[in-house]
Amino acid sequence: MTSIESKRVQYRKYLERAGVIDALSKALIKLYEEQNKPEDAIRFVRKFMCESCPDDAQYDLMKNDLDEAKTTIARLEQELERLRGQIKKSPEEYQELTMAGYKSLIDDEENVSSLLRKYLTPELLEEYMLVTTPSPVDAYLYDCAVSGFEHHDAPVGIYAADPECYDVFTKLFDPIIREYHGQEENDSDMLQKDVDWGNVDEIENLDAERKYILSTRIRLSRNIEGLPFFPKLTEKQLIEVEDKIRAATETMDGELIGTYLTMGDIDTETQQEMVKRNVLFARGEGYLQTAGCYRFWPTGRGVYHNPAETFMIWSNEEDHVRVISAAQCGDLGDVYQRLVTGIQELEKNLTFIRHPSYGNLTACPTNLGTTLRASVHIRLPLLSKDEERLKVMSEELSLTIHGTGGEHTSIEDGVMDISNKRRMGFTEFELVKSLQDGIVALINAEEELEIAGQEG
Ligand code: ADP
Ligand code: MG
Repeated sequence: MTSIESKRVQYRKYLERAGVIDALSKALIKLYEEQNKPEDAIRFVRKFMCESCPDDAQYDLMKNDLDEAKTTIARLEQELERLRGQIKKSPEEYQELTMAGYKSLIDDEENVSSLLRKYLTPELLEEYMLVTTPSPVDAYLYDCAVSGFEHHDAPVGIYAADPECYDVFTKLFDPIIREYHGQEENDSDMLQKDVDWGNVDEIENLDAERKYILSTRIRLSRNIEGLPFFPKLTEKQLIEVEDKIRAATETMDGELIGTYLTMGDIDTETQQEMVKRNVLFARGEGYLQTAGCYRFWPTGRGVYHNPAETFMIWSNEEDHVRVISAAQCGDLGDVYQRLVTGIQELEKNLTFIRHPSYGNLTACPTNLGTTLRASVHIRLPLLSKDEERLKVMSEELSLTIHGTGGEHTSIEDGVMDISNKRRMGFTEFELVKSLQDGIVALINAEEELEIAGQEG
């Protein structure tokens, strides 16, 4: 007998000795004899075999207890977060954490591409480690770099904890901003041009026949003057942001008229459906989590939207305010027009923070400047087969191609998310116009391939 066979025999003997075979056979016979075969056969067998199992009533009670316990845990976690927020780290603790975080980033030889790693030299670390932004925020370098210290694969690795960080830690932020936004050659101090929405009528419907473009979306980020950014917002300030947004949206007019919903009032299932329809946001990825973006969740989070779901304002997603205009077609002109009307209406009631060099200030340096990302979801079956050509074209046209679900997602069913690559150094109008020109060029290329295919 081979050793496997002998093991099998031994195992079978063991099952018999322990009464397992007998018990299973009895359960199966019982099921066989059952006139009305139960839908859930496994439950039937389990019930038959289990002498001390709870009956249905006991099970329901236990489930209730479990749900209650889960609610209590969530409440206690929030309480813990609140108490943690009240503990002020001493300068010595900040120093220790900063040095340990920096060391782990620098010692990691496999992940070397973050801009934080590139520009935070030991000399700068020494200079900035114990410097803080003005009270009462008192943001340390650590508050900005904590996410990059932990996630060595992050492309940038740093967020501003409040608006002042950009100037207080300028020797770190400035080169990162210049490199990310392709402004290394720019010798002017003013990297961002003044706001200019341009002639909205020049932006058009890019796919009137609805052949290629499934949807269009433009978003802007804004932060309200006088408040820190998400890493340092207190629970009270999260609510303050939401209150301000709610009040500011009351004067919206025409197709922008809508309702404000606070996240805590929306049940989980509805939240998920709204996220799917891109009306609402969910908690996101690890970089933001470590940077402190989801503290006190869901406090202060919510959305204002019109019934058509073509105009949204998000409260405390990442920046204080995100303004989004969207359409289920390729009408970029319509989407842009609505966005411009919406932001100008908001600006009547809210003052957003701007920087003399960098334009609109955002927590993430990649969003600075116009903060504008205009995108279309587009299907170009022929062109997208030629990845190399698509790559070359998108570079020439200053476009970025993301997966269907946004950044860090994959392309599904041939649907690409194509958007403007640049956010800084150009006016709002120039960026939207360049997306328009780029998409028109891609559609022309697709049509040429269609014709070539028909002829060939
Ligand atoms: P953002 O730059 O606004 O953070 P993300 O890439 O994180 O954008 O995407 C946010 C959400 O918006 C994702 O769910 C994405 O699928 C959706 N989205 C982005 N652009 C479009 C578009 N043109 N049409 C439909 N949905 C879009
Ligand atoms: Mg995002």
